[in-house]
Amino acid sequence: SLQAGIVGLPNVGKSTLFNAVSNSAKAQASNYRFCTIEPNVGLVNVPDERMTKLAELVKPERIVPTQLEIVDIAGLVRGASKGEGLGNKFLGNIKEVDAIIHVIRCFEDDNVLREEGAINPVSDKEIIDTELQLKDLEAVERKLQRSEKMAKTDPKAKAEVEILQQCKTHLEQGKSIRGLDLSKEERVAIADLFLLTEKPVLYVANVDEASMHTGNKYSEALAAAAKEEGAQVIVMCNNIEAQIAEMEAEEDKQMFMEEYKMTEPALNRLIQSAYKLLQLDTYFTAGVQEVRAWTIHHGWKAPQAAGVIHTDFERGFIKAEVIAYEDFVKYGSEAACRDNGRLRIEGKEYIVKDGDVMHFRFNV
Ligand code: GDP
Repeated sequence: SLQAGIVGLPNVGKSTLFNAVSNSAKAQASNYRFCTIEPNVGLVNVPDERMTKLAELVKPERIVPTQLEIVDIAGLVRGASKGEGLGNKFLGNIKEVDAIIHVIRCFEDDNVLREEGAINPVSDKEIIDTELQLKDLEAVERKLQRSEKMAKTDPKAKAEVEILQQCKTHLEQGKSIRGLDLSKEERVAIADLFLLTEKPVLYVANVDEASMHTGNKYSEALAAAAKEEGAQVIVMCNNIEAQIAEMEAEEDKQMFMEEYKMTEPALNRLIQSAYKLLQLDTYFTAGVQEVRAWTIHHGWKAPQAAGVIHTDFERGFIKAEVIAYEDFVKYGSEAACRDNGRLRIEGKEYIVKDGDVMHFRFNV
């Protein structure tokens, strides 16, 4: 499955966040089949109110949410791209993930060591951005050298040289590749480089408890910088999230959250945003045995979506019965939707929509 990696400077609250993630994954593991995969990889349920709502209507034996992998990529420091510390190794780890959750310190606390002087979210963001850009620059230049040689005889390589040069200039200006306006074809030409700054990013403004609901001057500065790149900022207090995730009893969690005037853990918002960042959609199956959420990529057609359940479903796909989520909730059951003409029969070309309740017909 797809992975989102947590990155950031030392002492900004990354492990605190990852602990919250993996503790909430452990709490879920008793109900579901999965748990923490490796010490630095956690599998979390993607919270989805629609799934809960469907379950209220269908009353199934079990509910199975969809999941997301979160990876803790500790150890990034200033100078990482030049091999400072284990920097290069950690940069390599970012290659493996599909999206980046960049945690930024927006809290003051004299007890928490900080090497970069006064709290400054924008410069912290730039330090990490720069390391990733330098690493990308290295990869682009290496490929550029090869392509330039080949371009003498190969017209395809010649086109590549142009794209790579564009990337190089962009990176040298201190900008990330995700912000570079490239066509789909041009993106394909650099896909083999797995550029770090091409990956989608969202920011966690890790604020103090008191600023959890309002944000503070630091998170506001970060929000302004993120807005320029069209990136999302989640304001949360990682310490509080870790404390919630540590509690075993649901009642305790509720009581604790009430005290802090929270309706749900901010972690839910973060996971949902990461899921969207990865351009993932959810469709549902809703039977008496189970109500279940399934992950697909945005834009997938019905047979491919069916293949997530079982490869046979894709190979033998005949058609799909589809009910929009809103209709299912409005009419209350599959039968009622059918009676009211709200159950559609869709074929191979149907592009599945987020929230669709699906039933596949297939040949074995
Ligand atoms: P990492 O190096 O980025 O993984 O940072 P850690 O998660 O280990 O956190 C470093 C220190 O900052 C720890 O002592 C945490 O308890 C503390 N910390 C993390 N989040 C917060 C927060 O929201 N507020 C305050 N005051 N301290 C925090």
